[in-house]
Amino acid sequence: AAPVITIDGPSGVGKGTIAQMLANHLGWHLLDSGALYRLTGLAARKGTVDFNDVQVLSEVARDLDVAFLPGDHNEPARVLLQGVDVTSEIRTEVCGADASLVAVVPEVRTALLQRQRDFCTQPGLIADGRDMGTVVFPDSVCKIYLTASAEERAQRRFKQLNGKGGDVKLSALLKDIEARDHRDMSRETAPLKPASDAAVIDTTGLDINSVFDVVLKLCKK
Ligand code: C5P
Repeated sequence: AAPVITIDGPSGVGKGTIAQMLANHLGWHLLDSGALYRLTGLAARKGTVDFNDVQVLSEVARDLDVAFLPGDHNEPARVLLQGVDVTSEIRTEVCGADASLVAVVPEVRTALLQRQRDFCTQPGLIADGRDMGTVVFPDSVCKIYLTASAEERAQRRFKQLNGKGGDVKLSALLKDIEARDHRDMSRETAPLKPASDAAVIDTTGLDINSVFDVVLKLCKK
């Protein structure tokens, strides 16, 4: 089997950026597992599926027709759902909230398990998510868990959104992040927590390049 490096942690901690940098650096594949939960939420909403209907929700997850196309130079991958480009749509706050709703359903998590494992091909995989090291790839060669205070994560997101001309309130972002943390950490199936053999990195006060340096050193050990 190809080697896997897992990068887990809460919303807004910079996992996606670090995972992408690492995949570029090593020339390995990348799995953005959160995108699969976002796509499940989006497909369910488009199909006007009742979010309480566990049976149908898990079928939506199982039958997802998705493609990840590599982005041009340093651009994130394009995500297609049934051939339609939903790259920006799945990044919205609404889609994130829907994702965390469908993610509490054990049958949905099971339906996505093999699909995630199928991303593991040569020369290797960087897997980004919440339960990569604990559930999906328990045998990975290196497990990283990134954290940062909720305030710091809200600040980062605030700068990112308002830098793009958005008009969101910091307090609203903080509330969202805390609600998402609570839901991710308190669910019964695969709750968000570091694997017992993960290296935990608190990124509060660190810029992205410093985090990357620390991660790279850990992976080379
Ligand atoms: O990482 P991202 O914000 O895209 O994930 C969206 C939501 O999907 C998370 O809030 C979480 O509830 C869920 N998720 C999960 N397990 C993963 C990845 C994401 O439960 N491995």
